[in-house]
Amino acid sequence: MAQKKDYYDILGVSRDADQKEIKKAYRKLAKKYHPDMNDGDNEKAAEKFKEISEAYEILSDEDKRARYDQYGHSGINQDDFNFEDFAGGGFGGFDDIFDMFFGGGARGRSSRGAQRRQKQGSNLQYKLEIDFEEAAFGAKKEITIPRKETCDKCKGSGAKPGSETRTCPQCNGRGQIRSSKQTPFGQFTQSRTCSRCEGTGEIVTEPCPQCDGQGMVRRYRNITVDIPAGVKDGNKLRLSGEGGAGEGSAPSGDLYVIIKVREHEIFDREGDDIYCEVPISIVQAALGDEIKVPTLDGKVKFNIPEGTQPGQSFRLKNKGIQHLNGYGRGDLYIKPKIAVPQDLNDEQKELLMKFAEISGEEINPKEKSFMNKVRKALGIFL
Ligand SMILES: [Zn+2]
Ligand SMILES: [Zn+2]
Repeated sequence: MAQKKDYYDILGVSRDADQKEIKKAYRKLAKKYHPDMNDGDNEKAAEKFKEISEAYEILSDEDKRARYDQYGHSGINQDDFNFEDFAGGGFGGFDDIFDMFFGGGARGRSSRGAQRRQKQGSNLQYKLEIDFEEAAFGAKKEITIPRKETCDKCKGSGAKPGSETRTCPQCNGRGQIRSSKQTPFGQFTQSRTCSRCEGTGEIVTEPCPQCDGQGMVRRYRNITVDIPAGVKDGNKLRLSGEGGAGEGSAPSGDLYVIIKVREHEIFDREGDDIYCEVPISIVQAALGDEIKVPTLDGKVKFNIPEGTQPGQSFRLKNKGIQHLNGYGRGDLYIKPKIAVPQDLNDEQKELLMKFAEISGEEINPKEKSFMNKVRKALGIFL
């Protein structure tokens, strides 16, 4: 299910359109492309009508729509469609249903024949890893993707320039093979794409040397991806029309860039807020201190208040990450990590014991020799 147009684009509505707008757009388009209204170019209209119906089926259902918004076409499966064949991609199954509903071949199917096969270009996916700061402030990144492009030598025809083409003998240039079937419900006409000429109605006598008659070539393309400030890990950016080229006059697919944000050494991110642990000593926590703390914009002065407790955090407003769809930034939270001193020397131990003593705290460290020294120093006798 990779080669699909965006449902919103198909209906020509914005991503935040409400149900009323969606319905209105659908009705208007369905009327325009209803096969009964299009005697001249029925084939194209039918394809279009099918697309519109499919888009409407998903977008008119809030649950399916939500899944589509989040995961794109990969969030939608066959069960989401009332008609399996609608979503089947191939035109064959739909033809039958279509014929039954609208009288099919009896009325005005295109008999123009030679029409280049139409197939939308494939959607491509690219995983792009970026730095934490690039996600925070946005960046331009150049990526190289392999994709199918229309052969520039033969302009997609597959024929060597200047060479002759002849009319396909199997379909007499119509591109379609028709057959009629008698059933208890009446006669049904089916048409399928001619396999010999693949619907073009023409046979290439000398294939284009550059694309080997395929009409398509595989190229590596450099594409600049504009990453907006505030993107999150897992975000999907759609570059419209940058996917594989379509066949015939069908549109190109889209390129989806999936963002992977590398972790930062010192910052953690939650939404647009960031968190940073800053080690401080027990003395700084108790007495307070002016220190420097890191932010995304460089170091800033910060006052640790007297009596700071473990688990406390302090907010620095607007020092977080730019909101992706709007103004302003998240906040930065400084989380002091109070370090308990280790490997104290005797003098430090004595002072802490004295501190405990003054605070009226009775403690009995296990180390006897040390205790004796302390007692002596404090003038305590047993
Ligand atoms: Zn070519
Ligand atoms: Zn043919």
